Amino acid sequence: MRKYSRPLTLLYSIGPVLIITSHLGAFLLLITGLSWQGLLWAIGLYAIRMLGITAIYHRLIIHKSYQTPAWVKWVGSMIACSAGQMGPNWWKGHHLKGHHNVSDHAGDSHSPLYPFSGGLRGFMWSQMGWLLSPHFFPPHLPADVEADPVLKMMDRLHFIPLMSLGFLSYWVGGLEFLGAFFLSTAVLFHGVATVNSLAHLFGHQPFATDDYSRNNWFVALITFGEGWHNMHHAFQWSARHGYTLKNGQVVRLIDPTYGFICLLEMLHLATDIKLPTDEELRQHQRRANPLSPVSVPVAVSLLLTGSKKQ
Ligand SMILES: [Zn+2]
Ligand SMILES: [Zn+2]
Repeated sequence: MRKYSRPLTLLYSIGPVLIITSHLGAFLLLITGLSWQGLLWAIGLYAIRMLGITAIYHRLIIHKSYQTPAWVKWVGSMIACSAGQMGPNWWKGHHLKGHHNVSDHAGDSHSPLYPFSGGLRGFMWSQMGWLLSPHFFPPHLPADVEADPVLKMMDRLHFIPLMSLGFLSYWVGGLEFLGAFFLSTAVLFHGVATVNSLAHLFGHQPFATDDYSRNNWFVALITFGEGWHNMHHAFQWSARHGYTLKNGQVVRLIDPTYGFICLLEMLHLATDIKLPTDEELRQHQRRANPLSPVSVPVAVSLLLTGSKKQ
């Protein structure tokens, strides 16, 4: 792991503290109860922040699958930061060198199959354990994001948008809305984390990759399309992840994050949207050693006893 300066180590370390605080804070709702208005507040905060992470952090800043004016990147990053899942530089530092380049092998920051080779331990590691270990610090900070002073400042002060949203929630609806904010933040954290855990354990592998990434419909549902993760590993630069192959034919899958990118394009805020052709998708079909989806009982037993690499 790379060594960071003491101030940066301290600033980054605030992240896990706030995520744990969100989990504990959700218990406020046991005292206040949760009205329909509070529930809608929690769902709204989940949806907009999930889009910040999927459309802005992941598909725009990290994989550059489309382009936007700088201010869209900045506003989107501010929203993504308010998810409490660290800043854009930290994210990209982990995601390329610490995941895509070494997926499910030594050096992967959060694989369920390395270093614990699956099982409940591997699942827990990829779901949240790695964030409470020295692996929390990214292997490097990406030069392109570091060169953007606005993104760099947001990355270092990543906790301010989250805390501001907490104060806003309290101001709007008192303790109940603060509890709804905490609940939304904790659920959002686990929703995003299922891409690292479940989408590397269970689901289809229609495309050839060197890893165990899967297309998982449940993860796609709760992460607005990020669960089509095998496709994403095969075509990291694609703005749309929602593709699979059936009987050699390309099938398009629901991908709300891609829908959002199309909306940005309609508003003339997104350009240069990268998509694979059907021919490219077919050429990437997994031919050897196809992995089939597992049934629920088998999935549970794999989780408890250790997932077998196939
Ligand atoms: Zn992955
Ligand atoms: Zn990615």
